[in-house]
Amino acid sequence: MRLAERAIGISPSPTLSIDSKAKKMMAEGLDVINFGVGEPDFDTPDNIKQAAIEAIKKGMTKYTPVPGTDKLRAAIAMKLKEENGLDYQPSQIVVSAGAKHSLYNAFQVLCQEGDEVILPAPYWVSYLEQIKLAGASPVIVSTRASEGFKLTPGDLEAAITGKTRIIVINSPSNPTGAVYTRSELKALGEILEGRSIAIISDEIYEKLIYDGLEHVSIASLSPGLKEHTVVINGLSKSHAMTGWRIGYAAAASPVAKAMADLQSHSTSNPNSIAQAASVEALQGAREPLREMVREFNRRRDYMLERVNAVPGLSCSKPGGAFYLFPDMSPYIGKLYNGKKIVGASDLAAVLLEEARVALVPGVAFGDDHCFRLSYATSMEKISEGMNRIEKLLAQIK
Ligand SMILES: *Cc1c(COP(=O)(O)O)cnc(C)c1O
Repeated sequence: MRLAERAIGISPSPTLSIDSKAKKMMAEGLDVINFGVGEPDFDTPDNIKQAAIEAIKKGMTKYTPVPGTDKLRAAIAMKLKEENGLDYQPSQIVVSAGAKHSLYNAFQVLCQEGDEVILPAPYWVSYLEQIKLAGASPVIVSTRASEGFKLTPGDLEAAITGKTRIIVINSPSNPTGAVYTRSELKALGEILEGRSIAIISDEIYEKLIYDGLEHVSIASLSPGLKEHTVVINGLSKSHAMTGWRIGYAAAASPVAKAMADLQSHSTSNPNSIAQAASVEALQGAREPLREMVREFNRRRDYMLERVNAVPGLSCSKPGGAFYLFPDMSPYIGKLYNGKKIVGASDLAAVLLEEARVALVPGVAFGDDHCFRLSYATSMEKISEGMNRIEKLLAQIK
């Protein structure tokens, strides 16, 4: 059977494939420390599970409106107002099967052949594929570790052409943990305002933020920016609900309508039970979330200290998410057992095979001088994994 060109061009998610390789090795009885994970290791809080059980008992097991139940969309509108200073009608909100699905819908309804999408690198892997699937061309703009991996107004200005239709902003960022400040977003916003460029603002790590930093949605900075922004968020990371598959987008009415119409021909509504549970997640107790953030903060501090103590590795302090993105370039060109290390991919392969530590090489995010370490795992595992990394890197000459 012939595959469509569109399908042949897709590369599978490298983060998911490393995670599954590590899990397979573990299932074979190998003692693997998995720093490749992209989800909280905490369980979904009990009040949320209970709400799902109630929803089943009450028979909420049928189709719902395609963009989500009235109740959930009202709860999301309330959240956006109270926590982000964003005024949306429930009708401007589209709930989908995870934020990844919301992003997919957004690119599909906003991009066409010949359009350029500005994608700051390091970037989350799925943006690149989703942009291409929508027929547009990604314009990758590298950011620098010395600038906290954040896009500067100068970089943005230089990347804009007559074909630029969209820019992707992901704060806090996966993989770098970078958090844009209000004034940094303002500076980018000033360049974007008045040029009809849409902003896709992926705010999925909003709640996982440290050191008293403030999450700011670029849409909240001015009515003009709000009009041009699609805000993407979801419950996966904030409420340890990755398996429930609930994400959402908030956008100008015609965009929200187009996304819902597109979804009406693919998945229809997201899972009805997960939607009921999400209402509880948004309105119920906050303590489990605060507890999770405290624990992530503790792990980040410890892992960062361990990473920076390894000769040849350097990592700046990320303000959010649950990843470190250290630079390993002093190892490039050196040898492990006679094998040359050309980039972080070789290092990741050696670490998995020889030290049984799984991590994601930066090539997956557009920068192979670095690799991504997830601290969504226990302190004991972080400690043991860092011991192994330290020991193995000492053998690279
Ligand atoms: C995890 C993640 C998502 C998607 O999460 P869903 O589970 O699909 O809600 C979106 N963007 C980034 C940057 C992520 O890391």
